[in-house]
Amino acid sequence: MKKIGVLTSGGDAPGMNAAVRAIVRKAIYHNLEVYGVFNGYAGLIDGNIKKLEVGDVGDIIHRGGTMLYSARCEEFKTAEGQKKGIEQLKKLGIEGLVVIGGDGSYMGAKKLTEHGFPCIGVPGTIDNDIPGTDFTIGFDTALNTVIDAIDKIRDTATSHDRTYVIEVMGRHAGDIALWAGLAGGAESILIPEAPHEFSDVIARLKHGNARGKKHSIIIVAEGVGSGVDFANKIQAETNFETRVSVLGHIQRGGSPTAFDRMLASRLGAKAVELLLQNVGGRAVGIQRNELVHHDILEILDQPHTIDTQMYRLSNELSI
Ligand code: ADP
Repeated sequence: MKKIGVLTSGGDAPGMNAAVRAIVRKAIYHNLEVYGVFNGYAGLIDGNIKKLEVGDVGDIIHRGGTMLYSARCEEFKTAEGQKKGIEQLKKLGIEGLVVIGGDGSYMGAKKLTEHGFPCIGVPGTIDNDIPGTDFTIGFDTALNTVIDAIDKIRDTATSHDRTYVIEVMGRHAGDIALWAGLAGGAESILIPEAPHEFSDVIARLKHGNARGKKHSIIIVAEGVGSGVDFANKIQAETNFETRVSVLGHIQRGGSPTAFDRMLASRLGAKAVELLLQNVGGRAVGIQRNELVHHDILEILDQPHTIDTQMYRLSNELSI
């Protein structure tokens, strides 16, 4: 392979830039030409593709968002759209593509692979919901943003003797809620992967109140339902003064943590290594701190799982 491309797609995540930087620099170090595809699959179809040099990825390792921009593109879900994209790559002599994104973006990479175009998936999403990797790029930064918010909300919750419901992102996955809930000392953590009884949440609140607790924090993953509805139900059931905070898109921004920069650099470089060996159709990841890669055609068939031991621990520690 002499020429490769890179794009970021779907929801942006802190650390995507660090991954782009690693891909561009690793490729150039090994005498490959590297092209940036702007605006995700939409830019691929439109041919919004530019050659990148070493300096083009300078000063981005610490920045959130993505210098290649991202987009959602319905046309790319059709075989025609996918073939148009491949034509654009072939016109420039690009022989392999690195796709940085979440599960939707992986579907696109899977389709390109099925059409015979070598693709490597790099997991970039705050949701941590890609199978075949313990961590996705952006998760650690989002987690730290949520922890910071919980700590601040805890101050005001204590001062006013309030119950706080904090709704966090994660789409269908509960990883952000679980990790942030455990690290933030939440009383209850509601995630889609573990069914909960509303009566149990109420019992925990009342138990804490009876032993003189000044505040309670409940973390709700967006995949479980609306934090606002949940807070209303709690207030009605307990008469405790209950407030809600929906953290929203602040979770997607900000400077990536050291962990995410390291992860992005390692995974980005691994993706290029595979293409250098003419290996395509793989999804890179990290498992037990080892870099791994799996078949991109099969990876999304595996279910997303959470660490059940961690969930149990969160229940044990929040008595
Ligand atoms: P994320 O990658 O963060 O999960 P999306 O689910 O929005 O984000 O997916 C990003 C883009 O990936 C979509 O806008 C679309 O262009 C492409 N994509 C998603 N699903 C498919 C599919 N089934 N086939 C081809 N491309 C897809």
